[in-house]
Amino acid sequence: MEKEKEDGAYKAHCVVVPFPTQGHINPMLQFSKRLERKGLKVTLVTTKSFQNRSSSQSTSIALETISDGYDDGGMVVAESTEDYLDRFREIGSRTLTEVIHKLSDSGHRVDGIVYDAFMPWPLDVAKGFGIVGVPFFTQSCAVNNIYCHVHQGLLKVPPSTDETLLPGVRVPLRASDMPSFVSAPSQYPAFLRMVVDQFSNVDKADWIFCNTFYELEVEEADWMLKFWPLRTIGPTIPSMYLDKRHEDDKEYGFSLFKPNSDACMTWLNDRPKGSVAYVSFGSLAELGAEQMEELAWGLKNSNICFLWVVREKEATKLPSGFAEAIKEKGLVISWCPQLEVLANEAIGCFVTHCGWNSTLEALSSGVPMVAVPQWTDQSTNAKYIMDVWKMGLRAKADEEGIMRRQEIENCVREIMEGERGKEIKKNAWKWKELARKAVDEGGSSDRNIDEFIAKLVQHEHVAS
Ligand code: UDP
Repeated sequence: MEKEKEDGAYKAHCVVVPFPTQGHINPMLQFSKRLERKGLKVTLVTTKSFQNRSSSQSTSIALETISDGYDDGGMVVAESTEDYLDRFREIGSRTLTEVIHKLSDSGHRVDGIVYDAFMPWPLDVAKGFGIVGVPFFTQSCAVNNIYCHVHQGLLKVPPSTDETLLPGVRVPLRASDMPSFVSAPSQYPAFLRMVVDQFSNVDKADWIFCNTFYELEVEEADWMLKFWPLRTIGPTIPSMYLDKRHEDDKEYGFSLFKPNSDACMTWLNDRPKGSVAYVSFGSLAELGAEQMEELAWGLKNSNICFLWVVREKEATKLPSGFAEAIKEKGLVISWCPQLEVLANEAIGCFVTHCGWNSTLEALSSGVPMVAVPQWTDQSTNAKYIMDVWKMGLRAKADEEGIMRRQEIENCVREIMEGERGKEIKKNAWKWKELARKAVDEGGSSDRNIDEFIAKLVQHEHVAS
């Protein structure tokens, strides 16, 4: 049973250090809230640059900041990704050490650090203090296994053009199904190093957390379990969108963008059940102008209602005359409360870049997907969505790498109105139920979180 903290007393203290982007803070903040509900004190450590840019902070979790060495803008103002990561390692290690000392001096001794695996260095900080250190992998287990093969020299980069069947990845992958950092390494050398370096010191970690759930990736998790103490702890989604154990847990709490919540929820509430395609490419992806145009006319031609998130910076790429052409059927907004949108009955499918959070959110909401992957892990997620979990269709790209309007239209219509759509919807509902069970009391992820807490409490007792 969960024990809520009494009179401010807590069982142990965990510091959580996410990588400072929207898609990485969301899951770790949510994970922090779960720990707190189970009686731990949690301090979330963000960077000054993220803190300065983020627009809302309605969370009960205690916050501290460290420096990535670029307090006035973070990664975007760094000369290169390589420079950013090197400086973050150096300044971040120093300032995180200072934060742990400060917390300890104020009577909140830290028992463990959970940190985003994109930055392996907090493990050295944890070991320096003799406390528990756990990397948190924010991508799917399948994707992690691919990077692990690269780290071990078992997958050459770029991979061969033939299909490759890797241990721990249950479907054969073409190069175009691999993460872009692997299939096009020369385009992203620093990112490739970053994702492969996630494995550089895992042997020294006490555990490995992955934001997935066991039932979703049984073979993938079992493979990793042969080498390391992996624990699946996801999906890290606010309780009210999943197990509904905590009524006040409805939002992530941090956002880099301001949502147009009223406008889009009012618009959605007027639409019939399952009639709207929700379209979003997350917080980072930048679509080429041609892809944007094809997508725009594909949506329009489908004749299906759509709600499309186009971030402010991307809006100039919308074709001229589009706003006028879609007045009846479409609404374009700059950011929305995605969890609330996906939970709305009007939504019939999700046209998405397949970022891992968006994938988990769609899966936990039972919403089928049209996969339009752009970069990083998205192609691999798209492959699993279509061929393994069978809860969506992947839009095919032409020889120029563009997903054309006819293809977008066909995929959306097939899911919303076609025969295949029925089976896909059924599967989406199956995954929603399994995701809920995993985080609900006694589920696979819930048990793993309890086990971690027991370990931290043990540390607390030994240390006091
Ligand atoms: N998101 C949101 N409103 C939007 C679009 C996205 O709140 O209009 C959130 C979404 O719920 C998810 C995150 O932004 O938690 C995007 O993460 P994901 O891993 O899907 O993509 P990334 O932004 O990292 O590419």
